[in-house]
Amino acid sequence: MEEAGRGMGGAERETEVAVVGGGQAALAVAYYLRRTGLRHVLLDAQDRSGGAWAGGWDSLRLFSPARFSSLPGWMMAGGEDEYPSRADVLEYLARYEERYEIPVRRPVTVHAVRRDRGGFALDTSEGEWRARAVVSATGSWRRPFVPDVPGRDLFRGMQIHSADYRSAAPFAGKRVLVVGGGNSGAQVLAELSRACEATWVTLHPPRFLPDDVDGRVLFDQATALYRARAAGRDAAPPASLGDIVMVAPVRAARDRGALASVRPFERFTADGVVWPDGREERVDGVIWCTGFRAALEHLRPLGVIGENGRVAVRGTRAADEPRLWLVGYGDWTGFASATLIGVGRSARATVDEIKAALAE
Ligand code: FAD
Repeated sequence: MEEAGRGMGGAERETEVAVVGGGQAALAVAYYLRRTGLRHVLLDAQDRSGGAWAGGWDSLRLFSPARFSSLPGWMMAGGEDEYPSRADVLEYLARYEERYEIPVRRPVTVHAVRRDRGGFALDTSEGEWRARAVVSATGSWRRPFVPDVPGRDLFRGMQIHSADYRSAAPFAGKRVLVVGGGNSGAQVLAELSRACEATWVTLHPPRFLPDDVDGRVLFDQATALYRARAAGRDAAPPASLGDIVMVAPVRAARDRGALASVRPFERFTADGVVWPDGREERVDGVIWCTGFRAALEHLRPLGVIGENGRVAVRGTRAADEPRLWLVGYGDWTGFASATLIGVGRSARATVDEIKAALAE
């Protein structure tokens, strides 16, 4: 699909709004842009739809039922208590693009966004694009985070990040450490503990949500907080999505007594790790479920990336570049904005601002 909105007009690769990325956040922005008539294009480095969902492990399940995992305009199919699989989400996102004729060009990597003659020039793998406004929706999947543990380069065993984990098969019968106390760590440990000797390593004792609390409850709580704050009232912050949702495989692991965790080891040796009590242990592999950082390198030329690796924003609008917006990066760009159901709200607010800004 070529560029959308008012005719192609102007030179080749010239548009009004360029969206960098083609995952759920970019699609939610495109859904609202489509209604404005503004010419827009999504430039996505991936050669297939789905964004981060194209990665992830085979047994990955959403932590919310389908009805609470939908983008604006179109409900994901699935029952009230059905937790969609990764394959269901990929199918839904691919069909969402078709349904709303979203103008995605892929694979197109945006290497750099530069200010240029009252707008932006985007240096991309298919040449230069020009735009009056840019939305960065590049997620974090391409920037897995691994802590710098002493001796990590010495260790001769397998090391992968959860972004590259697909199944327990390669680890069968081995001794593996799963490092990280969030949803990824819990789900990978739950699967791995059936196939090998898996030890869960977490900075602090993991926080499990009650069995009847899943993503929809967290979203409702976050919505109540959002509304209270919007009305100037204070309200208790909800449990965080960083707490572990007890999806079925994690509950089964708990019932098997497999959810115990230990505090971190001190350093690596060539064949294993050294624990705080000095004990050395041989291990065959480590799976880092230690999260991600926002993929923002393409914005470096604009001088807007702060020490913390983020961009100062008001809502989703860059505080130091009024024609740049950031969508889908998690709470710092709008609560629950890194979830399918949460990103719609910030996408709509973003497009309202873009429309007003380009009308000036
Ligand atoms: P992505 O999906 O990462 O898409 C970004 C796109 O931008 C990618 O296609 C990438 O190739 C592209 N890109 C990056 N850099 C460039 C560039 N320079 N040029 C061009 N393109 C670029 N969310 C839920 O709602 N429910 C869940 O149950 C849930 N469970 C999760 C479980 C796990 C284990 C993980 C890791 C995440 C989970 N999430 C869940 C969160 C969700 O998967 C992500 O937050 C979501 O994929 C982010 O969407 P996005 O569009 O912001 O980014």
